[in-house]
Amino acid sequence: MPRILVVAPNWIGDALMAQPLLARLRERVPRPRTEVLAPAWVAPVLARMPEVDEVIASPFDHGWLELGARRRLGRELRARGYEEAIVLPNSWKSALVPFFARVPRRTGYLGEARYALLNAVHRAPNDARGPMARHYARLAGAPGSEPPEPLARPRLRLDPQAAARTARRFGFAAARPNAVFCPGAEYGPAKRWPAEHFAALAKLLAARAIDVWLLGSANDAAACDAVAQAAGGAARSLAGRTSLDEAIELVGRADFVVTNDSGLMHVAAALDRPQAALFGSSSPKHTPPLSERARALWLGIECSPCYARECPLGHLRCLRELAPERVLAALGELGVLPSAPVT
Ligand code: SF4
Repeated sequence: MPRILVVAPNWIGDALMAQPLLARLRERVPRPRTEVLAPAWVAPVLARMPEVDEVIASPFDHGWLELGARRRLGRELRARGYEEAIVLPNSWKSALVPFFARVPRRTGYLGEARYALLNAVHRAPNDARGPMARHYARLAGAPGSEPPEPLARPRLRLDPQAAARTARRFGFAAARPNAVFCPGAEYGPAKRWPAEHFAALAKLLAARAIDVWLLGSANDAAACDAVAQAAGGAARSLAGRTSLDEAIELVGRADFVVTNDSGLMHVAAALDRPQAALFGSSSPKHTPPLSERARALWLGIECSPCYARECPLGHLRCLRELAPERVLAALGELGVLPSAPVT
């Protein structure tokens, strides 16, 4: 069986948008064994993908070259006899392990002038802000070719019984609807819907007897705490108290999800949960939630998308002017709301 090494992106959302590429590799004849080199914080997501045969935890710190360690790992992997490596990040350092592993075909976008490291080089097309999933999926084919549409949608495995146990442990009530909000966005504040808007929506949902849970990593705890405080008891924060696996299980048990453009947005899409996905400085044309059950909300004002981490104009109108009532209406269209507030 041919063996392929995929060097995964460093972000959870990007890893999920790379799943259609993994599905394309799976369709090759003969079917290859697909092994993925991924940072520890992305590995739990990849381990839940049916297309992945093995996740190799990358020991490197984000942002460091660590040339010696990359050479060592490459030499260790040489014995696995990979036929091809596909490098998804654009950085020079991310292509070093396949190079040191002497993988005969090393595929990726040119990125940081990686002529010496790659030998099946794709040029980024003109639609650099076109769909990210398509951008990655191209790498399964010959340079210059386009992947057939429609692309496969991301899907994550979830053990329903384990997820139910996790939900009970964290206090999800079986008898009431549970909504998950994801108010964080590692990328920066220009992707975060204001805390007072999340809080106002939580109050509107609490009036409909819906429990609201705030999920995120420890880095999102401040954003989630701000929402919980402003919501005055209408939302409870679990940010930083769950592992990524537990967060995935809780998203999988949610009746619906309200999320910024973040890794958990793509997790919710891959678990087929109904969701309202809120876009500020980024665009749903570039990184949409890949699910029929998602509603992307994006105002598309004159300065948008700017892709900035912080609003360069200081007003964040792209998100401030996205009213909680509009998100509530989108949830109504998804059919996830009880018909009327509880009186
Ligand atoms: S410049 Fe416009 S799109 Fe960018 S963050 Fe500010 S309001 Fe949003």
